[in-house]
Amino acid sequence: MPIVTKAVADIEKHMWPQWLPWYVCNLIHWLATGNSVVRIKYRWAFNLRQRLTKGQMITDIKEKYATLRIYGSFCSEIDEIIKQAVRACNETCQECGCKGAVDRVYAGWVYNLCARCSRKISDDE
Ligand SMILES: [Zn+2]
Repeated sequence: MPIVTKAVADIEKHMWPQWLPWYVCNLIHWLATGNSVVRIKYRWAFNLRQRLTKGQMITDIKEKYATLRIYGSFCSEIDEIIKQAVRACNETCQECGCKGAVDRVYAGWVYNLCARCSRKISDDE
């Protein structure tokens, strides 16, 4: 899903200080968390990561009732990035990726679909 990938990249960019090279951010993040949201790998690296990002971290990304959810603690700028990504997702057909005229369709699960894709799904049933 390119909207989510782009949103996460934007969030990461905002989270870390601009002067820090990207590979250093990645390295610190890995040393801090082992790229997992549930554990701390090295406490010193975790503390450093918290200081550099002002404690900002994505803790979970999921889809709930056809709505994108990005959980974590963020500054207001990042909250705005998330809000825009959620809006973009709501306006995008999750089947074919077309924009506009997308409706919420309930077919066992909640989908955001354009008219053509929602017809396809109801034909399958
Ligand atoms: Zn579609």
